[in-house]
Amino acid sequence: MMPISVQSVLGLVMKRQPELGREVDIPTTPRTEVYSQNCIGYSQARIPMTNPGAVTVILGSMYSGKSTALLYHLKRAMIAKKEVVLFKPRIDDRYSKDEVVSHDGESLPAILLDSHKDILGQIGTAEVIGLDEVQFLDVEVWRVVDILSLLGKTVFIAGLSTDFMGQPFETSARVAMISDKIEKLTAVCVKCGEDAVWTQMVSDGVEVTDGDRVQVGGLELYEPRCRRCFVK
Ligand SMILES: [Zn+2]
Repeated sequence: MMPISVQSVLGLVMKRQPELGREVDIPTTPRTEVYSQNCIGYSQARIPMTNPGAVTVILGSMYSGKSTALLYHLKRAMIAKKEVVLFKPRIDDRYSKDEVVSHDGESLPAILLDSHKDILGQIGTAEVIGLDEVQFLDVEVWRVVDILSLLGKTVFIAGLSTDFMGQPFETSARVAMISDKIEKLTAVCVKCGEDAVWTQMVSDGVEVTDGDRVQVGGLELYEPRCRRCFVK
């Protein structure tokens, strides 16, 4: 089968997600020429797929093992000789600038994203695509995920479920709603040992209940808390 051209991918975006198509910039470098052999582009009335992709979204509080689970799935794909690419928002630089590093020390190199619009132009020929800390991206990233699935990609996404004020992250929620599978993880409450679904912000041991929603930090700033121990 003929390789799918950049124009075909752009055509698919325009047909399926025109809101995204008005903004997205897909570079026409040779690396992006081949996307998938399972997708037919814009001129087709329907989008025939012999091998559609699948989307798994991993959600949870901080310290619930989201990045560990994400890396587990990607490393399994690599063992299976699949081509893998991993993205993360540039804002998240706690452990490493160009890697995803889990709390238990596992890591993989990652491409830094300034915007969800930069994903389609950088997937190359990858079959499996990872995206960490999705809550830091724009809510519109679900449109890109939709296109990736139509291109036959296997997508694994990890995201924080709520902020420290207990408000759900809209970006995480939207990608979860269009996924095939949701893995919901809990951490261990630092106060009582119960399952922790919330992320508590603390400052010198005192709970913080309002402020800027996005503040990158570790255990000195955030603690996993159960439903009883979470202070809102
Ligand atoms: Zn507790």
